[in-house]
Amino acid sequence: MAASDRSGQSTGAALPGLAPAPPPVAPWSDRLRRSAVVLLVAALALVALVVLGGVPFARAIAVFVCIVGAALIPWQLHDAQQSRGEAIGAAPVETPVVRALIEGMPDPAVLLDRAGRVLHFNIAAGQLAPALRRNELAQFALRSPEIITALREAITYAQPRRTSYVDHVPVDRWMELVVKPIAVPTAFGGTDYCMLMTFHDQTPLRRVEEMRADFVANASHELRTPLAALSGFIDTLQGPARDDAKARERFLAIMHTQASRMARLIDDLLSLSRVELSAHVRPDTLVDVVPIIREVIDGLELLAKERQVVIETDLPAGAVTIAGDREELLRVFENLIENALKYGASGGRVMVALTVAPATDGAPEVRVMVRDFGPGIAPEHLPRLTERFYRVDVGDSRAQGGTGLGLSLVKHIIGRHRGRLVIESVLKQGATFTACFPQPKPPESA
Ligand code: ADP
Repeated sequence: MAASDRSGQSTGAALPGLAPAPPPVAPWSDRLRRSAVVLLVAALALVALVVLGGVPFARAIAVFVCIVGAALIPWQLHDAQQSRGEAIGAAPVETPVVRALIEGMPDPAVLLDRAGRVLHFNIAAGQLAPALRRNELAQFALRSPEIITALREAITYAQPRRTSYVDHVPVDRWMELVVKPIAVPTAFGGTDYCMLMTFHDQTPLRRVEEMRADFVANASHELRTPLAALSGFIDTLQGPARDDAKARERFLAIMHTQASRMARLIDDLLSLSRVELSAHVRPDTLVDVVPIIREVIDGLELLAKERQVVIETDLPAGAVTIAGDREELLRVFENLIENALKYGASGGRVMVALTVAPATDGAPEVRVMVRDFGPGIAPEHLPRLTERFYRVDVGDSRAQGGTGLGLSLVKHIIGRHRGRLVIESVLKQGATFTACFPQPKPPESA
């Protein structure tokens, strides 16, 4: 939000179309001085008349008392009326209760009079617009054209207004502003309006919306590619290659690969959405991680042989238990070890090790480390590897049958287990993926 121009505060006019602020009332000392001068002049005139013998002394005193009364009583009445007005509610929105309500609002909130002058604002509003000051026009501190327009319209038509704008300082934020006129009873039975402005940060919602749109676009694109290949081959088999047995064999093999790719993609998408749906539910079954890792390694033996990679293990002989979901843990280790075999094959070996070590908070955690000695991953890719569909080399991933969803699934599963995934890599020295899970506390002995 633009900072206010402090030079214009005292002379600044109210927003166009707004009621002007009431004229200032002369202070007590001024009015007293004026009355004293009147009384002094009257007293001198009466004394002169008495001395000159034109007026009897008693009559002069009586006249002086009348003049005193005439000078003092009207403004005493005026003051009494004014203070009564304040007590009843000439400005009820300035009471401590209203201030406390504004301060207690969770979102940034500013209360203005109908001239656009700030009556109250809370800490959140002060952080959003540091130039806000009480008794000053809000337009000096809130300079977005959208805000000024919404405020002006709300005041002119006494109707709520809603608007959105992008706040660029300190970082880009999508904000929504609601200006709501609030009817306030005046001291003399009429109605005045004050304006409540509340701001809502829409950035998280926007981001989710963008991510959702990206995800749908990516998923459609990923599905369309094998689908296009399949329909192309179907056309060829129905047309030119109808009677070519050799071509039919070759095309059917390719179609099988493409169909498997689509199936894998749909499978990963469903797994991801299932894990996301249950992200808030932490698994509570105790499972031994060691046999799960062994089962995965056994299942990948064939792939390792194909890629000429040796899988070395450093696993404890005894059980190591965590609170986990067996099927999901299978997917985690399968993804990590399969990636190491696919992308790190040139290193010739993959190491899988399990250790138990204290985490940063001192609590023990189970760490399953999968290390390869392949080409490694450039540092700029590391933070993005767990994004859906993110791949260092799209062509390589597709050639390896990848969907770009594996590490995203791994991250979500580990997150559901309240663990963390650590990715380390040095180019040409391979990559290490470590899945860390909190170890459950042993039951307290009776
Ligand atoms: P994919 O289905 O493409 O394998 P992943 O989410 O499992 O998707 O991995 C994302 C990308 O991270 C891969 O495409 C690959 O570029 C990179 N990657 C993952 N593991 C490794 C590894 N061990 N060595 C080098 N790159 C890797």
